[in-house]
Amino acid sequence: MPYRIPPAKILSQTISEVIKDKGTVISQRKFTELVNANLRKKDAEYAATGERIRRMAIFKGIARLHIHYRDTKEPSDHEKCPVCRSETKEIRNQTLLGENIKLGFKCTKCPYWTGPNRRIPIRYTFIAPQKGLIEPAPKRRRKDDEQYAQWKFA
Ligand SMILES: [Zn+2]
Repeated sequence: MPYRIPPAKILSQTISEVIKDKGTVISQRKFTELVNANLRKKDAEYAATGERIRRMAIFKGIARLHIHYRDTKEPSDHEKCPVCRSETKEIRNQTLLGENIKLGFKCTKCPYWTGPNRRIPIRYTFIAPQKGLIEPAPKRRRKDDEQYAQWKFA
């Protein structure tokens, strides 16, 4: 089947529409399906891969990402972020004696981090960047209460 890669602006708008509509989507596969269904309404040949959608959501800040991990016994290494391919930086902590302890690595762009043992992302939850999460929603506005109610199950 022929397909076309949607322009960045259309893809980011579509991601934003889907996440605002759904609030929370608990897998990248599901999120990719929803975004592609919405894209096809704009152009029947538009298609985007899960990775492109994930990276766009991160870089444009249009959806928050919760990363589910699998632990491994391999040591972590200073390499590109497996979630969004950005640079990672070392996390270090200083002990009371002034020693630097290497704790792992974290991504400079997204929530990915790993300890001294490599953690592998296995699943993603996409969450709408809704207002009212950081501060409890005001009681007087019913719409805000509904948004807040969604969060209890996120
Ligand atoms: Zn990253």
